[in-house]
Order: sequence, then structure tokens, then C-alpha cells
Amino acid sequence: MQTSEYDIIIIGGGPGGYAAALYAVRAGLRTLVLEMFSAGGQMAETDKIDNYPGFDSGIEGFDLAERMAKGAENFGAETVFAEVTSVDFSKTPKIIKTRDTVYSALAVVIATGAAPRRLDIEGEEMLRNRGVAYCASCDGMFYKDKPVAVIGSGNTAAGDALLLANICSKVYFVHRHDAPHAEQTYLEILKNTPNVEFFPNSETASFIYENSDSNTGTNTSSGKNLKGIIINDTVSGASREILCDGVFVAVGRIPNTKLFANQLDLTAQGYITAEENTKTNIPGVFAAGDVRTKPVRQIITAAADGAVAAKFAEEYIFSARNPHS
Ligand SMILES: Cc1cc2nc3c(=O)[nH]c(=O)nc-3n(C[C@H](O)[C@H](O)[C@H](O)COP(=O)(O)OP(=O)(O)OC[C@H]3O[C@@H](n4cnc5c(N)ncnc54)[C@H](O)[C@@H]3O)c2cc1C
Repeated sequence: MQTSEYDIIIIGGGPGGYAAALYAVRAGLRTLVLEMFSAGGQMAETDKIDNYPGFDSGIEGFDLAERMAKGAENFGAETVFAEVTSVDFSKTPKIIKTRDTVYSALAVVIATGAAPRRLDIEGEEMLRNRGVAYCASCDGMFYKDKPVAVIGSGNTAAGDALLLANICSKVYFVHRHDAPHAEQTYLEILKNTPNVEFFPNSETASFIYENSDSNTGTNTSSGKNLKGIIINDTVSGASREILCDGVFVAVGRIPNTKLFANQLDLTAQGYITAEENTKTNIPGVFAAGDVRTKPVRQIITAAADGAVAAKFAEEYIFSARNPHS
């Protein structure tokens, strides 16, 4: 096994990771990003990003991803494409292993992100960006004045339904139980919003789609486009069609934190417990972006976390090197 030493290692090359890398390398730290797929994280899977400031006509997700990586690399940050397979944060330097290398670093930023939970219904992947979406604040505008469905039950689903009710002609709120599990304040407003219709005790059984050249969602090329969903009533067993142009899936997220489960404090949902200062329960280990406890999971908030994490990492590294100062 090779060994390699850095001041700071960032696990995950999404916006949180590359913002941390940019700030760390510009603070003079020897900086490495370890990324298991391609630079950009979830951004790289997003056709068009319209809500990241500075791009007046929006920007392709892949383009923004590349720019963020290059931005940090131009100042000297390194990227190695490899999956982190284990970590040992019990002492400093911290140890991070990939399949063929053991890395050590004085500080670590975890920016491994969180993936939206899927419905696991046939056609879901094919219809992604063709009617199936996972982020109302990102993609809601693509469905302006069109009918959409929100699938989910918690606060995120309720928040999405509210946001979309301001943009779309109609919002069908499909949830599994008698009433959504969201906070009462959300539900009261939703009940009094005329273009929101509730479908309680309902499970989404399948998507309705057809070949089309028309523009749907963020994808404008020809192919299959969503036309609606079929839902099953879990009490009566009856099925019904809901015709809509968009379906917003809000059934939770899966944080990429398995690796850290025995070393860091995690919430019941698996997020790393860290406040705005991005500090975890282990000194010198920081959590940035979607992977940590936070109210808004977006590119801009992940990037902001990266900057904050690098700043506190810099302070930590200074005191680790100068214990008596
Ligand atoms: C379909 C979709 C559309 C979206 N649209 C928008 C939008 O328009 N605007 C917006 O602001 N936000 C949008 N978001 C949300 C946004 O992309 C995320 O909030 C943001 O990317 C989070 O950044 P992050 O750095 O925390 O994590 P991520 O972007 O998830 O990056 C994490 C990275 O860590 C890597 N990684 C994980 N585990 C390991 C490991 N063990 N070893 C090495 N690498 C690892 C992953 O491969 C990944 O590249 C969208 C999300 C989705 C899913």
C-alpha cells in the first residue's frame, strides 16, 4: 500500500467538497479531494441549474461541476478519483484509506452528500428530468402553470407542495396515511390553498408516459415524457389516474455516512450532527453540505459550508502544529 500525507483531505467532490478545497488551498494548506465518481456530485447529474447566483441564464450542472473542480485545482488542490473505504479519526493525523492508498491528514472535511430516496417504480430513472423531479425549489419553475403531483408525507413534501402551489396550476398531494406527517402549521396553510388537492391513503403504483418531442422538465430532447401517475387507495384498493406534467418525489434522502457510523455522532436518519460551524463531535473533522444536519440542502448552502469548514480546519491545523501557542 502507498502512503500519502496532506494537511487537509476532503472526502467528496461535490460543491461542498470543492468549495472547501478552494478555501483550504488558498490558505496555503496541502489539499486533497477524494472523489469516487466524477467531480461535481449531484450537480453533475443535473441538466440545468437556475438558482446558483452569478449565471444570468442558468448553467449546465456538468459545466458548474467542472468549473468548481478547476477553480480549486488551479490554485493547487489535488483530486484523486478513488472511493474512501475506511477512516480512523481516533487520533491526529487522521487516517483515510482507499483500496490502494493510506492517506493521513491533520484535518478532514466530509462532504459525501445525500441522495434523494427513489420510489423504485418502473420507469423512474428514464423519466428523471422528463417529468420526475426530486427538488421543488430546483425544478418547480419548469412546471409553471402546469399540474403537478407531490409524493411524500413529511415537512419536505408539505413545503414542496406549498412552494409549487405558488407556481403550478394545480398540486396533487399524494400521501400514504390518513393525513401527512408534516407539521400542523404547514397542513393548515395547505388545506386553505385552493389549488392543492389531498390524496390520503394513497400509494403511487406506476407512471403514465408516452413518446413525445415536447419540452418537459429540464430535458428538451425527444423521448418518453410523463403524463401522470396511477395511485392505489390503500384502504379501498381502488386505483385512479392523476394526469399531471410533473411528479415531485419527496420521500426522504439517504445520507452517505455508513463509513462514519462508528466514529461520528449521526442523527437517526443518518446525517452527521454538525451545526453552522460544520464541527462534528471529533475535533479536526468537519461536515459540509447535504451530509450534515441542516434545513436547506442546495448547491449554494453546500458551497457555503465548504468555506466555513475550511476556515475552521485551518484554525484546527494551526493549533495542532503549534500546541503551546
Ligand atoms: C436531480 C437533482 C437536481 C438538483 N438541482 C439543484 C438545483 O437546481 N439547484 C441547487 O442548488 N441544488 C440542486 N440540487 C441539490 C444539490 O445538487 C445538492 O444540494 C448539492 O449537490 C449537495 O452538495 P454536496 O457537496 O453536499 O454533496 P454531493 O453533491 O452529493 O457530492 C457528494 C460527493 O461525494 C462523493 N462520495 C460519496 N461517498 C464517497 C466516498 N466514500 N468516497 C469518495 N467520494 C464519495 C460522491 O460521489 C459525490 O460526488 C439537486 C439535486 C438533485 C438530486
